[in-house]
Amino acid sequence: MNSKRKTIIAGNWKMNKTCKEAEALLGEVLPKASDAACEVVVCTPYVDLPVACRVAEGSKVKVGAQNLHFKASGAYTGEISAAMLQELGVSYVIIGHSERREYFAETDATVSLKIGAALEAGLVPILCVGESLEQREQGIMSEHIRTQIKIDLANVSAADMGKVVVAYEPIWAIGTGKTATSAQAQEVCKLIRDTLAELFGADTAESVSILYGGSMNAKNAAELLSQPDIDGGLIGGASLKADDFGQIIAAAK
Ligand code: PEP
Repeated sequence: MNSKRKTIIAGNWKMNKTCKEAEALLGEVLPKASDAACEVVVCTPYVDLPVACRVAEGSKVKVGAQNLHFKASGAYTGEISAAMLQELGVSYVIIGHSERREYFAETDATVSLKIGAALEAGLVPILCVGESLEQREQGIMSEHIRTQIKIDLANVSAADMGKVVVAYEPIWAIGTGKTATSAQAQEVCKLIRDTLAELFGADTAESVSILYGGSMNAKNAAELLSQPDIDGGLIGGASLKADDFGQIIAAAK
């Protein structure tokens, strides 16, 4: 963590929690975030967003979505636009999560369009990048991450880059209980920052919050968050347990 940048602890609830369950979980999370030293975000399923925005109103917790469509409106059955999210009171949106890339054919080209749509609507995009175990073992991790960053952020200006959050999520660590070591996570978060510096200039790169995601939990959070280029966490499984999520929030001092 670095005092110049915003520290962000964001929960990704994925496809979990009905509206009633979401209300109950958020009710438990709010007191744990009331004196947080960091920004706290919960990214809920679409249908939970209205109740989450209502429950979180006036609190320290911001609400995020897990995806959006890049078009403003039209014949895109089943999709949700940035303006629809913005009107609800949503502040953040996860874009390019590896599960969307893997199961829903998300490409760097659509991720790039979605980043643009989010920024235009005043939403903070949390851009997810990360390598598979195979790519790491083949020694092409750096090229892969750099390519994702370059294409996904191709249409973002330096001024807008200050409004984007990047999450490094090694695919082999997501939902597997296998966490990257703090040295591995720091190495790639630094690589991301160096790539951002090449593309947008050093000052902009220094201002971007870069999160680590991949089996972050109450036990390993403090060590990961102590790394100089890790400015927070994107948390899946542990964000569904208020106590665990609360401990991660507390670790982000
Ligand atoms: C995620 O899906 O963004 C994630 C990091 O999940 P988990 O914490 O469960 O590995």
